Amino acid sequence: MIIVENLRKQFGANEVLKDISTTIREQEVVCVIGPSGSGKSTFLRCLNLLEEVTSGKVMIGEVEVTSPKTNIDELRTNVGMVFQQFNLFPHLTVLENIMLAPKHIRKLSKAENEKKAMELLGKVGLSQKKDAYPDQLSGGQQQRVAIARALAMNPSVMLFDEPTSALDPEMVGEVLQVMKNLAHEGITMIVVTHEMGFAREVADRVIFMDGGYIVEEGTPEELFQNTRHERTKAFLGKVL
Ligand code: ADP
Ligand code: MG
Repeated sequence: MIIVENLRKQFGANEVLKDISTTIREQEVVCVIGPSGSGKSTFLRCLNLLEEVTSGKVMIGEVEVTSPKTNIDELRTNVGMVFQQFNLFPHLTVLENIMLAPKHIRKLSKAENEKKAMELLGKVGLSQKKDAYPDQLSGGQQQRVAIARALAMNPSVMLFDEPTSALDPEMVGEVLQVMKNLAHEGITMIVVTHEMGFAREVADRVIFMDGGYIVEEGTPEELFQNTRHERTKAFLGKVL
């Protein structure tokens, strides 16, 4: 589904991603962990061209993301992204937030669009909040709306960048539960997270990044129980 080959990204003289290569299968759930500043967000952002890649190749399905001919809007339709900050449109209701992009980009009829939006709101457990505005919702609820909004484009891949890091602790669980349900539905997901419990339970594979490299990757068992690299051990020692 996703092939990353020798991906490098520099900001000026600062090389943030140094030769990243990996392959992500359809329906795979991959968690990316690692210290702050290791390049996790930059890696995700390179996958949907929120950052211009310095060199290397990224393929998502049949689309060569890194080709200059790639249509960025089309790519982003296919790759949903959820950020730490929910970024909902404050002047739009929950339902309007979810329906906005499909209306403009997928050219859905209003009835079809609304039906799909309500279905997604049901999926994230917020049907009763359809007419609420973002500031009337808790952080956990806003993030669940943001997930529904990303899903409204029918993406084939979902990228999550620390989706629970900005939440009060009591709201983390409800967002992780929604993500867990998506994982079980077979959506291909890449999740940057500090939630080691989630990674252990839900990930098919865990990637540990440090200093712009993939230091180690494997099943949760391989990474957490049979850790090979000292850097991974040191990191896990601090977060577990
Ligand atoms: P992580 O998500 O693992 O914390 P990031 O990918 O956000 O790491 O950042 C990795 C490095 O890239 C950091 O040193 C950061 O300062 C740098 N960086 C990220 N975005 C930019 C940018 N837009 N311009 C310059 N440097 C950046
Ligand atoms: Mg980050």
